[in-house]
Amino acid sequence: MTEALLSVRGLRSGYGPVEVLRGIDLDLHAGEIVALLGSNGAGKTTFNQTVSALVIARAGTVHFDGADITRAHYRDVVARGLIHVPEGRKIFPNLSVRENLELGSFTRARANRAVNLERVFALFPRLLERTGQHAGTLSGGEQQMLAIGRGLMAEPRLLILDEPSLGLSPLLVEELFGLIADLHRQGLAILLVEQNVAQSLAIAQRAYVLENGAIQFSGTSGELLATDRLRQAYLGV
Ligand code: ATP
Repeated sequence: MTEALLSVRGLRSGYGPVEVLRGIDLDLHAGEIVALLGSNGAGKTTFNQTVSALVIARAGTVHFDGADITRAHYRDVVARGLIHVPEGRKIFPNLSVRENLELGSFTRARANRAVNLERVFALFPRLLERTGQHAGTLSGGEQQMLAIGRGLMAEPRLLILDEPSLGLSPLLVEELFGLIADLHRQGLAILLVEQNVAQSLAIAQRAYVLENGAIQFSGTSGELLATDRLRQAYLGV
């Protein structure tokens, strides 16, 4: 296979005296969806935040598109096209929908702001209808669309989605997974952290299982589903 778009080796990270990630190796190639699975507290969000340089790595390396970004500033990470849609959406509630989207292109793709706004509105017509509305008054599903739309405004080369379906109704979850599959078909590489394991594995080519800050499994989605212990632990069947 060609060189990975994202290549993580021996990554260690934590908070104060708490060590969370205990030496993670992970690769993600251009055009792939990779699912990162694990129970609550396994370290998935810490992984996303460390790769995005929001939490400083203690050891190990993170390479993105061939460049060592382990000690990069998070703005530089965004500028390179590694875009993180955080758990809990983290939209700006007192800014309008349009202002939230425009902030997505603050660091990257600013010159293409107008055309990307149109693209996002075409993808999420609901956001266009609410363009002047305070983002804090959107429904949960609309806020999730806004968070993803804001990420797309930066023309990501890799989109990290941290629990995008959290709190959404089953119908919206279906819609969201359809959207993620569409983005992938358009060539976007995606790292997907999700509790909806079956739906994630249905659209991901490969998966990693994180337990207690260490990778317990890596392989294709099919291989994971063929592993009794993992299927029982994550799908209950
Ligand atoms: P979930 O699925 O519940 O979101 P997760 O796999 O994303 O879990 P993390 O949020 O990465 O897990 O948390 C891993 C561990 O790190 C947990 O034990 C958590 O309590 C701890 N932790 C997370 N953030 C901090 C912090 N800011 N300070 C101290 N400990 C933290």
